[in-house]
Amino acid sequence: MSMIVRIELGVVEIELPDDASVHVLDRDLEERIKEVQRAAFSEACSQIEAGLLKERTCPSCGGVLTVSDVDHRSVVMLAGAVSVPVRRLRCKECKARSAPLAAFLPEARHTLPVTERALRLATELGYAKSSDLLARLTGATVSHEQIRRFALSEATRIGVELERETDELFSCGVCPPGCVERDGQDTVVVAMDGGLVADRATGERFEARVGVVWSGVADVSEGRRTLLGRTAHAGIEDTATFARKMSTLAVKAGMTTAGTTIVIGDGAGWIRRTARDWFPDAVYVLDLYHLKRRISELFSREKDAAWRERVLSECVAGRPHAAVRILRSYDPGPDDRVRQVHRRLINYITVNAEGIRNYTRTDLFGSGSLEKAVDVLVSRRLKCRGMSWLKPGALGILKLKLLRFNNEWDAHWESRFADAA
Ligand SMILES: [Zn+2]
Repeated sequence: MSMIVRIELGVVEIELPDDASVHVLDRDLEERIKEVQRAAFSEACSQIEAGLLKERTCPSCGGVLTVSDVDHRSVVMLAGAVSVPVRRLRCKECKARSAPLAAFLPEARHTLPVTERALRLATELGYAKSSDLLARLTGATVSHEQIRRFALSEATRIGVELERETDELFSCGVCPPGCVERDGQDTVVVAMDGGLVADRATGERFEARVGVVWSGVADVSEGRRTLLGRTAHAGIEDTATFARKMSTLAVKAGMTTAGTTIVIGDGAGWIRRTARDWFPDAVYVLDLYHLKRRISELFSREKDAAWRERVLSECVAGRPHAAVRILRSYDPGPDDRVRQVHRRLINYITVNAEGIRNYTRTDLFGSGSLEKAVDVLVSRRLKCRGMSWLKPGALGILKLKLLRFNNEWDAHWESRFADAA
């Protein structure tokens, strides 16, 4: 059923000084139009209410409903706050009260377009900055605390489908809908990493985990490459929960029919164990980006450039033990810190020997894509200087950022609008 709301917007009158510029016109016009927009919103609500009030029969007893009084509800819409009159009805027979327009207005004070824009800003900026920018760019006033609550509440609606698909896959063996069919030539890549976030509750740090699945790389333009079929998951959850979701994403990407599955990790123990326990047929490789960073940490001085190249080239050639032999022949000098970095690098390469040996089995081991995902999803917003988070708040932002990373932001909000209808 559709309904036509007809609003007379009237004449907008602006008084400009003699020496007014186009810039003043632009600014003043926007202010006036926002006033008109708020009045139009209010008028539309009253027309909708008039339609709803045509039916005056009490739904419980069939008695006659009469208007008893008028309440005012404050609604924050894109052009600012509007006080909307809401007529309250009372049944003459059973005395039941109702307010038909109340069901049309948002449950909380804010409309969804306001919520969506506030959260969009919050994926990039702190809550206080988001609140300030939202008011400047739209006219809607939402406190930083309110935006934080928006994020907590929105997070409960994100990732629900992956959870359901994961449950079905692991409890009933049902493949998620839309699984890609692949052939023996194809490769599915599963990359996992974690970023540590300062925990406000304990003063310690907790890990936000990020995983990306893709199925190949394509050149889009000179020097620019894109991952095909890229999908990410991110969460603050234990290894098994995270691993189950990652394998669901891999199954959806065609892991069961592809010739090769590659698991890429930064060398963390939980990722090696996930590769072993949840992706037993996959080739595990150490993320080259992390390895390079570790090697460069030891050989950061210019005079060590040749050592750096020797160790790196043995690794890239899939010879971890040769790399370790070279490292053992290197004298780190008397500095305790350098000696420790030296010891740790030998240990890192030894522990990750298999992930380095497997460089010979694939060329998909160091695109930097995983690093970029962690940076975008975790570091930029959750690891700013002096910043600490409670887990639910961090998870809220992580899930909202994930929507954007997966290009699902618009679809998510479309379904929110549909649900709210
Ligand atoms: Zn009644």
